[in-house]
Amino acid sequence: MRKEIESRLCISATDNYGLSEIIGPGVAGDCECKRGMHLFEDAFIPEIINPDTGEVLPRGSVGELVLTTLTKEAFPMIRYRTRDITSLEYEKCDCGRTLARMMKTMGRSDDMLIIKGVNVFPSQIEEILFAIEGCEPHYQLVLEREGDTDVLIVRIEVTENIFFDEMKRQKSFVEQVERKLHSVLGVSASVKLVEPSSLPRHEGKAVRVIDNRKR
Ligand SMILES: [Zn+2]
Repeated sequence: MRKEIESRLCISATDNYGLSEIIGPGVAGDCECKRGMHLFEDAFIPEIINPDTGEVLPRGSVGELVLTTLTKEAFPMIRYRTRDITSLEYEKCDCGRTLARMMKTMGRSDDMLIIKGVNVFPSQIEEILFAIEGCEPHYQLVLEREGDTDVLIVRIEVTENIFFDEMKRQKSFVEQVERKLHSVLGVSASVKLVEPSSLPRHEGKAVRVIDNRKR
């Protein structure tokens, strides 16, 4: 999306992170290197914790971002849990700044799915699908429990070319997507292709996960 905005508007687009409970926009922002958003550590103390246990994780770990405000008046926040899953990079940036860089958020700790004991974020699946040619940006994740095992089914809308293509080509497309999902997520998924425009559309934040597992 950034590349498209940049090329259509002939600008350099930078990413920004903020949340209204802390300050609104201005917690972290990209520099010209765009290698993660510099977090303004002079105004906020960031920590990365394990969202399940609250334990502070070592540098470089992926976990939930927790922020403490240092300069906010009247409504300070102490160890505020953002629910955003990310990691912090402390290596000096090519721009010369030494502020920690916050990586693109992988999702929210409350969106996190635990599939066969592995933490999976819908956003990871989305990123994989968007990178595969022939996938439309509409998909749905269905979770089932078969015996003691979780089963992840990824329903993907595909372009007409693929949907109406011969079975052999469809099969190799499905296998390609399944391989990619397995290598990135570390869990296997079964891919089902659905007709273009057949999945429900949602305004705003899409509900793309149907969890039929009984807990
Ligand atoms: Zn930088």
